[in-house]
Amino acid sequence: MGSTAVVVGGGIGGLAAAIGLRRIGWDVTVVERAPVLKDEGAGISLAANGLRALDELGVGEAVRGASRGQYSGGTRTPKGGWLTRMDGAALEKAVGAPIMGIARSALHRLLRDALPAEALLTGSEVNAVEQTGPARVQLVCGERVLAADLVVAADGIGSAVRHSLFPAHPGPVHSGSTVLRALTDRPVDLHTDFELTWGRGAEFGHIAFLDGRAEWHAVLSLPAGTRFADPLRELRSRFHDWHDPIPALLDATRPDAVLHHDVRELRTPLPSYVAGRTVLLGDAAHAMTPNLGQGACQALEDAVTLAAALATAPAIETALAHYDAERRPRSQAVARAARQAGRMGQQLANPLAVALRNTAMRLTPARAATSMILRHHAWTPPHLN
Ligand code: FAD
Repeated sequence: MGSTAVVVGGGIGGLAAAIGLRRIGWDVTVVERAPVLKDEGAGISLAANGLRALDELGVGEAVRGASRGQYSGGTRTPKGGWLTRMDGAALEKAVGAPIMGIARSALHRLLRDALPAEALLTGSEVNAVEQTGPARVQLVCGERVLAADLVVAADGIGSAVRHSLFPAHPGPVHSGSTVLRALTDRPVDLHTDFELTWGRGAEFGHIAFLDGRAEWHAVLSLPAGTRFADPLRELRSRFHDWHDPIPALLDATRPDAVLHHDVRELRTPLPSYVAGRTVLLGDAAHAMTPNLGQGACQALEDAVTLAAALATAPAIETALAHYDAERRPRSQAVARAARQAGRMGQQLANPLAVALRNTAMRLTPARAATSMILRHHAWTPPHLN
């Protein structure tokens, strides 16, 4: 009989892990608590490392076909001055792909379509995971008990599995910021593919999609739990005098399309991503702030690394030890860099510090800015086939 795995969570990380395990011949069930499997977020940017992982999973071409390359744009001030220019062509030359923008629902659907319907168990919340022997683990979801050789916990930032494995870990904390975002409901005249604009304690950004629509996000330094009666009106008032096309992006958005979340992260790194026959992956293992657009890309790296280790190691334990050694240092370093990027970007509110940062950015040569990005994007996946 072949090896079996249960994946907890049908987000980007869980679906990618299931695809990877099936590609190496495992029998996989994905257990998702939501009654319908979908990702309702707005848009997502995928860097070369995430795209390479998707290539190994066999869905890279389909995802590239549904994405728009982010070739032009950069970082700006609220009045519109450029702090840095992004050079998508240079990124493509260096790592094989520019950053690609795609609607989250489209990415999620492409991953879901790569799995047979019978591998997905929706409307089932995992309540407990238990090691029942050295080589067997079982989980309870509602009335049902599932047993497997391996449990992959991809249950997101609020991971109940992580909490049960590491009860002393403090869990996710508020980053100090809150994010509002949406997809426009019609094309907008953007001039660039991708922009980030930094004010004092506020950021506005957009990613353009293939069909001319865009995702925009606004990040504000605010206490956890802050909510607005009319989010779109609030944003129009905060950003009305920011440069074009920010007001136009807000105008092209339906009020009910705006999502609002506090930004949380796992600030205390986990001591291990593995406990017995349970392995943590994606936000369950290393939820990070979105400042580098790397959370999902790291989850995709996790998925391919795990499958490749299980395909080649002589025993599951050895494969899991390899996965932990490969993934923990890299993903935790990216999480630290993302936190730092947030502190130097949107969270900076002191006028002098903002002026100093802006001057430093204007003086940074484009090549140096690109090589800083490359540190995270240049990742070579292990081969699955
Ligand atoms: P999730 O997507 O959270 O999926 C977890 C799944 O598990 C959910 O479907 C949930 O319902 C299910 N679940 C939870 N508990 C249980 C349970 N007990 N039983 C069964 N099912 C359960 N990353 C990028 O790479 N690029 C970007 O541009 C980018 N932009 C971002 C912008 C914002 C504002 C934010 C907040 C994040 C961004 N990220 C980005 C990060 C990215 O969204 C996450 O890292 C990624 O979605 C994590 O995927 P996941 O599968 O690990 O977790």
